[in-house]
Amino acid sequence: MNQIFTYSKSSKSVVINDSLRIGGKNRPVIMAGPCSVWDFNRLLDIAERIKDIGGTVLRGGAFKPRTKITDFQGLGLQALQFLGKVSDQTNLPVVTEVMDIKHIDAVAMHADILQIGSRNMYNYPLLREVGMCKKPILLKRGFSATIEEWIGAYEYIGHDKVIFCERGIRSFDHNTRNTLDLAAVPILQSRTALPVIVDPSHATGRRELIEPMSLAAIAAGADGLLIEASTQPDSEKTDSFQTISMETLQRIIQRVNLLCSIPLQ
Ligand code: PEP
Ligand code: MN
Repeated sequence: MNQIFTYSKSSKSVVINDSLRIGGKNRPVIMAGPCSVWDFNRLLDIAERIKDIGGTVLRGGAFKPRTKITDFQGLGLQALQFLGKVSDQTNLPVVTEVMDIKHIDAVAMHADILQIGSRNMYNYPLLREVGMCKKPILLKRGFSATIEEWIGAYEYIGHDKVIFCERGIRSFDHNTRNTLDLAAVPILQSRTALPVIVDPSHATGRRELIEPMSLAAIAAGADGLLIEASTQPDSEKTDSFQTISMETLQRIIQRVNLLCSIPLQ
């Protein structure tokens, strides 16, 4: 049956494993989890809940790009081990950021998708090197990057297993952390044919805006969402103010599914 909202307007999909493909005609991918990984049991609880409510990928930062050197920088290699173990126990694929060329092998050993963060979108040596390991890559938009510059970054990776992630761009209004550029979704999909997902968490920086912006992203044809969520959002070590509860995440997933199943009359 035809749908009001096509599941996706990308035409190429990225294969993650036997049971997960992102983009193309597949249902929107839901990547969720804490901003940073800092406790094994917390991560396991979160991942089990994500699995129960229909989430598809576990996110969690091991290496955190922080503005201040005195802020929590992530548990690094130990967090990668936690992510790998939780992934084995729950069968959820993992996405996590790689910030440094010297950590690529370790990240690739424990993660199914390697994330290039907004601050590193212009880091051409890192892009070239991460492209060599041939694993799927989540390429975030630089917070001041034009679409041309974003596509330029993708070309440095040198292969097509790339998922773009719109995460907001810096603008003059400070009601939101960044400004979500939803028009970038169909533009990138038509320019590259590759999947484009949306991160409403870093785009808005506000819990109460995650649900409406998630639904808007799916209505705009996004191939999925990347959302900061936790069983205890208030006590997360980083970005707690924009981290949603599992109840809210569940409602978002239900509404995304509903949006994707509304038939044309
Ligand atoms: C993140 O997703 O953990 C993150 C740091 O986001 P960004 O690179 O978009 O700021
Ligand atoms: Mn964060």
